[in-house]
Amino acid sequence: MPTVTLINGDGIGPSIMNEALKVIAASGVNITWEEVDAGMAAFEKHGTPLPDETLASFDKTRLAFKGPLTTAVGGTGFRSINVALRQKYDLYANVRPAKSWAGVNTRYEDVDIVIVRENTEGLYAGLEHYLTPKKDIAESLAVVTRVASERIIDYAFQYARDNKRAKVTVCHKANILKYTQGLFLDVAREIAPRYPDIQYDEKIIDAACMHMVMNPKQFDVVVCTNMFGDILSDLTAGLVGGLGLIPGANIGADAALFEAVHGSAPDITGKNLANPTAVIMAGIMLLHHIGEHSAADNIQAAVEKVVSDGVYVTPDLNPNSIAGTIEMGDVIVRELQKV
Ligand code: NAD
Repeated sequence: MPTVTLINGDGIGPSIMNEALKVIAASGVNITWEEVDAGMAAFEKHGTPLPDETLASFDKTRLAFKGPLTTAVGGTGFRSINVALRQKYDLYANVRPAKSWAGVNTRYEDVDIVIVRENTEGLYAGLEHYLTPKKDIAESLAVVTRVASERIIDYAFQYARDNKRAKVTVCHKANILKYTQGLFLDVAREIAPRYPDIQYDEKIIDAACMHMVMNPKQFDVVVCTNMFGDILSDLTAGLVGGLGLIPGANIGADAALFEAVHGSAPDITGKNLANPTAVIMAGIMLLHHIGEHSAADNIQAAVEKVVSDGVYVTPDLNPNSIAGTIEMGDVIVRELQKV
């Protein structure tokens, strides 16, 4: 029975994680959840957003299931615990699949894009400071290394091959950021020929956004540096019905952390409005990761049925719905029990 570090998170985190745990339990998979704190909850309880106990648990399990964590905007407050965990455990590949759902009304019907985001460096390396005592000039340094570029681009191609995908597009800004983005693009051009079975394409990031909104079907697997991947994955979420639907896996050589793409959603916290689907989908990715494929497939089928029926879904999917987070979780469990 695997032991998994469980971080319920802030804001809507505890409520959606509760539904995900209910659904995973109903699938029949036995997991020992080791619950620990991080983020605001940890700060309030332990005076630090990342207590030693949390790190000790992840050190041991090397596997985590996490709700969203709040990070204060701007110069006050602690730095992102999400970024800290990704860097500390070298969770270098952030895989964020966005696929159209039957029953969810969107502009396009057959979007199927996987964003593979470099997760440990780039503009999120944490090298940021003021240059003057008056704090009126600030500087951020983007770090792009050959070794991190090689492993993420290779990961994207290998992911495409393993998952029978046709194409990898690298999105970059090498026309302006000639060294950092230029290095990333050079590495992509070196690695692409090693995968002759996978079509290779490259797009400048700003144009890529326009193409993705106008003709998303030309994208399949997309690989990019950290911040571009962060932004593009919210864009792809918007193409398929919103942040309530998109999971993310943070994968390293010897550790993995699964979560939703979305944040702690303070605007809907405590209202039973948060869609639990994204974290349930993250749970499905976790189950596949530990080899529990049939439980994962059963949950996927149950979620798809409930979403496509469109009745017991949260209001982000159906504004006329009277169901909330808890009711949607309950109906997914009931659907799963029919299997
Ligand atoms: P957000 O993702 O929390 O919310 C953006 C919008 O999407 C909001 O309108 C919200 O109501 C909606 N939304 C998000 N999740 C939803 C769900 N499950 N169901 C229905 N609607 C949903 O982004 P934000 O408001 O920019 O950020 C809030 C906080 O979350 C910030 O502190 C940010 O740093 C943090 N954050 C954390 C993570 C993470 O833990 N991995 C990711 C992104 C943002």
